[in-house]
Amino acid sequence: MKQILPVPSPVTSYWLSQPHKFSNLRSTTELPAECEIAIIGSGMAGIMTAYHIFNQAKQPPKVVILDARELCSGATGRNGGHSKIKLSTLAGQIPKLGPDGVDELQAFVQGVIANLKQVAEDEELDCELEIRRSFDVQLDDNDASALKDIYQASRKAGHYWTKDVGFVLPEYLEQVTSIKGAKAAESVPCCSLWPYKFVTQLLERLVSRYPEQLNVQMTTPVTAVSVLADGTNAITTSRGVLKAKKLVFATNAYTAGLLPQFKDVIVPIRGMASHIVPRVPVHPHLSHTYNITFKPGQAADYLNPRPDGSIVVGGGGSRFKSDRPSWFDNFDDSTRFNSEVEGYWNGYMQRVFLGWENSEAEVEKVWTGIMGNTPDGWPHIGRVPGRDSQYILAGFNGGGMAFIPTTAKAVAKMVAEDSDFDYVKREFGIPEIFATSTERLRQAFTETK
Ligand SMILES: Cc1cc2nc3c(=O)[nH]c(=O)nc-3n(C[C@H](O)[C@H](O)[C@H](O)COP(=O)(O)OP(=O)(O)OC[C@H]3O[C@@H](n4cnc5c(N)ncnc54)[C@H](O)[C@@H]3O)c2cc1C
Repeated sequence: MKQILPVPSPVTSYWLSQPHKFSNLRSTTELPAECEIAIIGSGMAGIMTAYHIFNQAKQPPKVVILDARELCSGATGRNGGHSKIKLSTLAGQIPKLGPDGVDELQAFVQGVIANLKQVAEDEELDCELEIRRSFDVQLDDNDASALKDIYQASRKAGHYWTKDVGFVLPEYLEQVTSIKGAKAAESVPCCSLWPYKFVTQLLERLVSRYPEQLNVQMTTPVTAVSVLADGTNAITTSRGVLKAKKLVFATNAYTAGLLPQFKDVIVPIRGMASHIVPRVPVHPHLSHTYNITFKPGQAADYLNPRPDGSIVVGGGGSRFKSDRPSWFDNFDDSTRFNSEVEGYWNGYMQRVFLGWENSEAEVEKVWTGIMGNTPDGWPHIGRVPGRDSQYILAGFNGGGMAFIPTTAKAVAKMVAEDSDFDYVKREFGIPEIFATSTERLRQAFTETK
């Protein structure tokens, strides 16, 4: 069986095109022998957990952050760059969670967006963070009317999740969204940012604030983790063993490589995204982000206009879905999809958007990235079942930036106060469905068999 580990030499993305000076940081030439808290993973989950651990501490602890590759070169460095929850995701949860559960989820995500903004402002992160609206656009009549029916029932009952949602007037769909052939569109709250800049600059702040307490070790794959008789974690890496009193797994898609009980529970899924640049400037500037669903049952494309007028757009699943090994249980982001698949992006903006026909927009870059998908669609947050000194925040599927900023804060509190999910869930408003548990692991495992 192949070991699940981040592969060396991943392809670069638009976001990674300006490497941070700390991308290969090793605070010390030798790996420290021990620390109080070790964090595996330097994506948004790992770095935000470290940030909140230090922020909450009266006495800053000794922390080591490890990553198999360069800083923030996983999913966070190669995603779509917007934080939101789609209306169809909320509506689709009504049968399982009920409208009250969906209200809780919507409130949580809105809090996350506020958290992202607050950290970026407090820490003066230069990461193109903008609070925006996002359009969910359907190009199929049936998709559109099913969604509207669910929304209307909850709206009439006064449910919170419907409050900050706007339906575009049917007669002005193309005019308002600029999407050719739009059959329905809803606007929802969102935040657009340059995730790599957010994360790397946040780490930079920590490094300068806690030079004695924080030790960062990049390009240091962790190959095994065990718990010693005294309860300490022994973390085996390519460069020796680190002992840590407490350990946080911020390993997302790769979690099962270190915690086999997460095999088939967090599954690596390979996705594709691109960066498109108009050669002739297009005005007015697209000010919303988008999720565009072309056909029922098809995964949505996601689109994030950059302040410079270029576009990050990802998805394109219709071109590779039938080739299952190319994406399912696949964690190889060192290769791209074939040219036929990537051809999906050629002329995309001219094809899909009104006003872009003469833009001469061209594909500047295409890349792959690995998501960590869970059968129930929710992340695993909390104490690793059966392991008192280990914590996890992973399995963020295709929308981690709508969950991580607050779950990282909550995990930081669990670590500091030796507590678990139940202790913090109310304070941080985290939906119960995010709690990791033996029962959820068993269920996920059975569901995928
Ligand atoms: C193409 C694509 C588009 C996406 N679009 C969006 C979007 O628009 N909005 C959104 O919210 N989400 C999006 N996502 C999902 C989002 O990127 C993730 O949910 C989020 O970045 C997860 O952050 P993370 O820190 O948990 O994981 P990552 O950023 O993947 O970080 C995990 C880190 O752990 C390290 N690691 C793992 N195992 C080991 C090991 N054994 N030893 C050492 N280090 C290890 C990895 O090297 C990696 O750096 C997208 C994802 C992809 C791939």
